[in-house]
Amino acid sequence: MPETTLEIRPGVTIPEHLVGEVRSKLAYVDELIGGAEISPAGDLIHLYLQRKPSADEIQALKEKTNRVVNLMARGVIQPKVEILEDRLDLPLPYRDDPLEALTRRHEIHQEASGVYTLGPLVTRLMDYFETRFLALANHFDAAPYRFPTLIPARYLSRVNYFRAFPHSLTFVTHLRSDLDVIDHFAAHAVADESGRINMPADTYASIETLLSPAVCYHLYFSLADRKLDSEYMVATAVGNCFRYESSNLSSLERLWNFTMREVIFVGSKEFVLENREASRQYMQTVLDEIGLAYRVESANDPFFIGEFRRQAAFQSAFQLKYEIRARLPFRESTLAVGSYNYHQDFFGRHLNISLPDGSPAHTGCTAFGLERLAFAFLAQYGLKRDDWPVAVREGAG
Ligand code: AMP
Ligand code: ZN
Repeated sequence: MPETTLEIRPGVTIPEHLVGEVRSKLAYVDELIGGAEISPAGDLIHLYLQRKPSADEIQALKEKTNRVVNLMARGVIQPKVEILEDRLDLPLPYRDDPLEALTRRHEIHQEASGVYTLGPLVTRLMDYFETRFLALANHFDAAPYRFPTLIPARYLSRVNYFRAFPHSLTFVTHLRSDLDVIDHFAAHAVADESGRINMPADTYASIETLLSPAVCYHLYFSLADRKLDSEYMVATAVGNCFRYESSNLSSLERLWNFTMREVIFVGSKEFVLENREASRQYMQTVLDEIGLAYRVESANDPFFIGEFRRQAAFQSAFQLKYEIRARLPFRESTLAVGSYNYHQDFFGRHLNISLPDGSPAHTGCTAFGLERLAFAFLAQYGLKRDDWPVAVREGAG
């Protein structure tokens, strides 16, 4: 539990629309930080520290915190939020945080921060939502794919992922193929009380592979350096995704290891945009039947500090991302349970994927976070099936 609070008045006032984004980035400022809060007016930051800092550490914390605020908030202009659907005010029967009841009933079990085992209630809900996503995929005649959980570093590097999202990467390694190293590990390795393995860093091989942060990347990588035979393609896949969120990891809302279903479009600009819009319209009916209170609004990806301002403004200006944000009544806030994305010809150019006419392919995807959708549903309707909308009761009963 954090022991000390450090109060910082940043040199730049953080505008209201950025308070959440900046707060989540403060988790990456220093390993001493266990949490952070920003006053609603954006002029005061509280860092919750794991222990009392030295004078030098306070200086460093202030300097790094101000660096984050400057880079993300100085001179920033609030983008216009575009709302495409608004069903946030739907009457709902439940107001509590479902996490407590789920834990008490052993319906979920936390293995580590952001890592959960899910029991039958949540699993059945996720399976039911999957049937609805598969119907969406069928509507577009999407070809089914299975992608690995691991992803090669060279691919992520090629699409600038390391620059855009370094904070959320999860690396994979193995023991070096050296008999002495392996024997030593086998004889002495244990996980200590903090859960860490007690071996030096040079026990492990250098990193060529990561845990995959998204599903659609695998499709684009499989099409790299190719001219497509047809003018368009639609694919679908579900996969384990990994995004390290530091002290922001909490509940089923922000997981390190989560499951994403995507429907992926590759083709001309018109093809991708038309289908992104068609999937939104299709899902509007589905979300209505599920009874979800939500809003679809323009959004941006959580780019890292130095990249944030430029990339977020770019996404907003070109209407590249919309999120389905479900209401969390217990917190009076919303949580993104899905997104409608258009990448322009970014992957087409960086991965050299061309259409039959030689032009770079455009891509887009519709992505759903299964744990988050189940969590948001339970936050709105509770754990009692009798209180659920008919479609869900029958589908996930
Ligand atoms: P994105 O590609 O960032 O739009 O992510 C697609 C969906 O995946 C989001 O709308 C969420 O539902 C889900 N998602 C993203 N990050 C997380 C996370 N850390 N924990 C749980 N679900 C997530
Ligand atoms: Zn995607």
